[in-house]
Order: sequence, then structure tokens, then C-alpha cells
Amino acid sequence: YVRAIAPYQSGKPIAEVAREFGLDEASIVKLASNENPLGIPESAKQAMLAAASDIARYPDANGFDLKAALSAKYDVPQDWITLGNGSNDILELAAHAFVQPGQAVVYAQYSFAVYPLATQAVGGRAIEVAAINYGHDLVAMAAAITADTKLVFIANPNNPTGTFVPAAEIEAFLKKVPQQVVVVLDEAYNEFLAPELQYESTAWVRQYPNLLVSRTFSKAYGLAGLRVGFGIAQPAITDLLNRIRQPFNVNSLAQAAAIAVLNDTEFLNKSAQLNADGYLQLTAAFDALDLEYVPSCGNFVLVRVGHDDGAGARVNLALLKQGVIVRPVASYGLPQWLRISIGLPQENAAFIAALQKALS
Ligand code: PMP
Repeated sequence: YVRAIAPYQSGKPIAEVAREFGLDEASIVKLASNENPLGIPESAKQAMLAAASDIARYPDANGFDLKAALSAKYDVPQDWITLGNGSNDILELAAHAFVQPGQAVVYAQYSFAVYPLATQAVGGRAIEVAAINYGHDLVAMAAAITADTKLVFIANPNNPTGTFVPAAEIEAFLKKVPQQVVVVLDEAYNEFLAPELQYESTAWVRQYPNLLVSRTFSKAYGLAGLRVGFGIAQPAITDLLNRIRQPFNVNSLAQAAAIAVLNDTEFLNKSAQLNADGYLQLTAAFDALDLEYVPSCGNFVLVRVGHDDGAGARVNLALLKQGVIVRPVASYGLPQWLRISIGLPQENAAFIAALQKALS
């Protein structure tokens, strides 16, 4: 079944685009991978420099200090936490731990590409449930669960559409799902939620032994290159994930940086504010250009750049020629759309100018 898997497509690297289109690397704007445009947090940089002196040693295999910091922040015992090499690692561990060949995994149409990949990699059957307004239809997803369903993936907010399922709907879903089905609630973009949308998923973890919440340091915390994320679940789940993870799956620089940035509320607030402002900047431009977009709760916006199935690829190429890298989403079944990560004000402006040109 491995040969049937289409590989994950990441955003084009800056160096590759510079070479291909004869551009100066410094002039390129990359809004393709939902990264933090503020760059590395100063707190993380200092912590990494200090940790670098110990790099000849293996990292702490159990991530004691990082788990202690997470345990304090989320008010859960340390043995409820699994550290991952990015939150991707947590998603894959869940598929490895709970899904055997032929068993079913349920996720939504237009949801994160790694869900079918992780499912197929263990020989599972990927059950994609039709989206509603580009987001999760949790009523239909609950109805899609059968006796051989082992896992459900929910991204909230969702990538690549930015849609959000209100807390009440998730809770209603959790109440309906049989205990033997593990629900992975992927909260990679949680820190970008407006305060009125925030919810406390750790309370659900206490209540539902089949819930695994995953989080990442790659987005609002600005540490995508370090690869560090974590899962929170009751020990029955955590114990299984821990048995199959690689012994040193989170490197020592990542552990040190994550501890430093975890309580760097100044950086986190700055990221959230920049994102909220950038969202208004991008969507105002889409409104002015009369382009349809999906209202987003993440650090990116999905915009429809045409009404024929060549539109996404055509506009993407025109943007690349102008040194702007965004994410085509044809592989998600959205060939008329592009996903734009929210950047610094000047990066957003450069994208908007390039988009106007591309469309004219
Ligand atoms: N979940 C979602 C919904 C994502 O969009 C991403 C990143 N694209 C991830 C998980 C994985 O991110 P990371 O491995 O960097 O934590």
C-alpha cells in the first residue's frame, strides 16, 4: 500500500524558486507554509545558544523539563504528555498505535493532507467525509463511524481552509463517539483563535479517555524548523504512543527553545496581533478584487483566484515569476484556490501587488 501514497507536497523552498525564475533570494516573499513571519523568538535563540554547548550528548529521551513546563501550563500530569518531532509525529504515532491494516480512519474533506498519508502508511482505510462550507461536518463524521473505525482526525482550526468548529459541536461529537475510537483533535493553529472562540480542550481530555489533543511549536511559537510538538491524553493513550516513538524524537535545541518560548507571552501576543492585522489586510484586498475567500481562524487564508480548474496553477505561476511563493491546493481538490499564509505587512503588500498583476 505504500506505492499507492502520493507524497506530501510542501511549499517551494526560496532557493529553488530563486534558481528557477532567476530571482534574487532576498527579494522573494514566501507565504506558503503557515510559518511565523516574525522569525525566531529571542527567548528561544538564547536558550538554543546555551543548549548548544551540550550538543555532543543525546537529548533527554523523556523530555523531562519540557514536559514539566507543559504540565504546569496545561495543568495535566506529566505522564499525560507525549512529545513529538513536530505535531506531525504525534499524528503518525496515533495511526501506528491504533490502526491495523484494513481498519478505518475518519477525517474531513479539505482537511490536513497528513491524515490520509498517516492512515495509508499503516494500511488503514481512509474515510473522507464531505465538508460543509469548506469545514468539518461533525454530524456526518459521527455517522461515518462504524465497528472497524479506530481513529478520527479533526483539525480545529482546519488547514488549508481555516474553518473552525465551535466548542459545543466538538463536545457533542465527543459524547457520541464510542470509547474504542480514538479522536485526535489537532490544534496546530489554536493560538491564533480570537479570545471569544477559545475553549479548554484539556478539560475534555480529563473527561474523555479516547481523546488525544495535539499542539505544535511550529506556528504561533515560531519554531517550525526545530520540529517540536506535543500530545495531551490520558495515560492509557500516552503509554502506547511512548512505546512506539523513537527514543530521542525531540532534539535538545528544540526542547530548550520550546521551554523558553512556552511562557513568552509577549512573543505569542505579538504573533497573534500581527496575524489579526494581516488577516484584515489580505481580506480587504480580496474584497476589493472581488475574490471569494473562506473566513479563516488560522494564520492563512484560502482564496478563490478563478472559476476554471486551471486558475490556481496559472495564478500560482504568475506569482512565482514575481518572486511570491504561496501554496496551490489542487491536491486537496481545490484547483481554483490558493492558500496564502499571513506575513509581515510589507510581505502581504508585496503579495497583493503581485496578485493584482497576476489577475490583470
Ligand atoms: N496539523 C495541521 C493542521 C497542520 O497544518 C500542520 C502543519 N502544516 C501540522 C499539524 C504539523 O505541523 P508540525 O509538524 O510542524 O507541528
